[in-house]
Amino acid sequence: MKRSSAGHNIKLNGIAASAGIAIGKVFKLSGDVIKVEERSISSDQIAHEVKKLIKALEVTKRELAEIQKQAKTKTGKEGEDIFDAHQSILEDHVVIEETIEQIKEQKKNADFIYNQVMQGFQDSLQTLDDEYFRGRVADIKDVKRRLIKNIQGGETRLLNNLTQKAVIIAYDLTPSDTVLLDRQKIIAFLTDKGGKTSHAAIMARSMGIPSVVGLENITNSVRTGDTVIIDGISGAVIVNPTSSVLNKFLKLRAEYDELTKDLSKFRNLPCRTLDGKDVELSANLDFLDEINSIINYGARGVGLFRTEYLYLKSDKLPTEEQEFAEYLKTAEKLYPHPVIIRTLDIGGDKTARCLPMPHEDNPMLGWRAIRICLENPKLFKSQLRAILRASIKGNVKLLLPMISSLDEIYKAKAIIDQVKGDLTSQNIPFDDKIEIGAMIEIPSAAIMADAIAEEVDFLSIGTNDLIQYTAAVDRTNLRVAHLYDRLPPAVLRLVKNVVDAGHRKGVWVGMCGEMAGDPLATLILLGLGLDELSVSPAMLLEVKKIIRMVTFSDSRKIAEKALQMKTSMQIERYIRNVMTTRYKLKIN
Ligand code: PEP
Ligand code: MG
Repeated sequence: MKRSSAGHNIKLNGIAASAGIAIGKVFKLSGDVIKVEERSISSDQIAHEVKKLIKALEVTKRELAEIQKQAKTKTGKEGEDIFDAHQSILEDHVVIEETIEQIKEQKKNADFIYNQVMQGFQDSLQTLDDEYFRGRVADIKDVKRRLIKNIQGGETRLLNNLTQKAVIIAYDLTPSDTVLLDRQKIIAFLTDKGGKTSHAAIMARSMGIPSVVGLENITNSVRTGDTVIIDGISGAVIVNPTSSVLNKFLKLRAEYDELTKDLSKFRNLPCRTLDGKDVELSANLDFLDEINSIINYGARGVGLFRTEYLYLKSDKLPTEEQEFAEYLKTAEKLYPHPVIIRTLDIGGDKTARCLPMPHEDNPMLGWRAIRICLENPKLFKSQLRAILRASIKGNVKLLLPMISSLDEIYKAKAIIDQVKGDLTSQNIPFDDKIEIGAMIEIPSAAIMADAIAEEVDFLSIGTNDLIQYTAAVDRTNLRVAHLYDRLPPAVLRLVKNVVDAGHRKGVWVGMCGEMAGDPLATLILLGLGLDELSVSPAMLLEVKKIIRMVTFSDSRKIAEKALQMKTSMQIERYIRNVMTTRYKLKIN
């Protein structure tokens, strides 16, 4: 399906998800959504449709072999296994024969029939009781999408064949897609779908590259090779700019880079207000290879180590030894600073091949994170052993995600105690005093924060989910993205409740959701008394700069005033006004 190049200077607007200005060539991933039209064909077109199917099978086979080679070098044997499974689905004789048969019988186009046959398989697997087979549905969808694209002659979703630096354009980027990407070659992400806290957005911020999401139709507005300008500050994207527009943005990019360079002087300075209040400023870690960039940005530790990537990159569950090696490496690299390792938070929008899950109508409200771990003690214990073993130097802390009730804390602590007992009886050393924390990201937990605080050593507020669950706005659903506010008053009140409750009970309270790294929120969070902010690495210096410019006593007054306001818009306007008039800072 050849399309002509997009026109010149087309401007699109989306959600600014990661700041910065990038200019580069597009590399388009084929969308997750395939459009299949039903067409009737005449008898003499049957042979042509069958030929198209056979040719697409060959092309897809070659593609999969190529991706498999790349996955092997990148993720080892496990990555290779995923694509072995894809090859066998692709070459399944029953499917191929049934498709050919049905093309002849129904006299319909090949992509339509193939889609129909694969859908039948998908549906029958989905109803099975066996978890393994249900888990194969994701593979079937992947293979189906790839083959149909090849029948239709579209561009394919080769995630890691980038030969040069490029702007990645996709309908959406799932966490498992991003595991395979060659992150060194990506200069920006643009997606049709997604909101500020979708995983493509979080990943862009953690990589320090610009991103605009929720563009709705960028995948149809550009083609591979087009030039695009990404303004991750305003959310604008310009396709094939004219030379005058290009020059304007080259200048803006230089200014932005200069501004960022200017921030580097804060790298080794303490994160302290003018009146001497220290705030622990740490970084969120999504992939092990980000450690060096975290250190370069001057982070004092890791406030949220999302361990999911270990589970997303492979067809098999990671072994205790694999996890132990990664956690130990991280703890050693950042020693003596703390590393807060969060136990597995899979489910919701993060699905892993190694952990097949039943279909759910509401995955965000479903089987996710601690709920899965508590029902799978073997899985949970293996990760806990790895975390505890990596804690020997004393700088590791353990964080439990998606806590919705005290019951879950009791159960998790009982399992942690069992694991500690096992390690002790096996003479395996660990930090017996390891701090255990609860993520506060569900309203019920925020309301019960005082009771939870009695059971743990610290609380860490996850605003990405807390906003989602408080306002009932799916954080990945573009249709309702406008309802996902930046500074929602209801959530700020919950944050205040959590901080005050934690302090009353003598535990420290941090924040690791994206709000922690939002410069517009810094003054309020400081004033609310958060002890720690864990932010995307690229935001570390800007947040530190703001904290160093203000007094804690001023920020308390600002937070108090903000908390009396009734809408997110009023709060945003008030903070922007304070920032520009009092501190001469313009926040995007
Ligand atoms: C959060 O919900 O704020 C959080 C930090 O966790 P995640 O984004 O991984 O769900
Ligand atoms: Mg969360």
